Amino acid sequence: MNFKDYIADVPDFPEKGITFRDISPLMADGKAYKAATEKIVEYAKDKGVEMIVGPEARGFIVGCPVANELQVGFAPCRKKGKLPRETIEVSYGLEYGNDVLQLHKDAIKPGQKVLITDDLLATGGTIAATIQLVEKLGGEVVGAAFFIELKDLKGRDKIEGYDIFTLMTY
Ligand code: IMP
Repeated sequence: MNFKDYIADVPDFPEKGITFRDISPLMADGKAYKAATEKIVEYAKDKGVEMIVGPEARGFIVGCPVANELQVGFAPCRKKGKLPRETIEVSYGLEYGNDVLQLHKDAIKPGQKVLITDDLLATGGTIAATIQLVEKLGGEVVGAAFFIELKDLKGRDKIEGYDIFTLMTY
């Protein structure tokens, strides 16, 4: 299956000069979505994953079906103010300004092996922040999996030393 057939390339979104890679056609096709999920399950299955963590919102779309398949839990990583119980947080740089990501304090038990998921790896800022949160709680990040990698933005350099899987590269 050529997964790129299910990605919509949207010019000038969210601003002029940027091509947005939209995974919603992939999600809309049950067989393609399942096949993409299976690739990540395949990647993760010998890593002893005990928990999956994904940043909102598309990290849930990738991570939850994988968690179900592996029969492990999923913990949502969210923007500040969305999680109802006690949280830990990290601040990370965006192109303009900063953003804050949070995780429930009891989301990960010390020593748990964690897989991190998101739809797309660009500069790596989001995933680096998610890794920091997991490690603050004592989790061991055994891998990070994405549907898409934008190579030119060199996200891998920001998370050097971690095991990374991407299904498609642009
Ligand atoms: P990074 O933090 O620069 O690696 O950006 C990755 C984050 O931004 C991910 O959470 C993505 O969901 C989102 N993102 C950035 N560009 C795109 C895109 O072209 N399509 C879909 N999501 C994107």
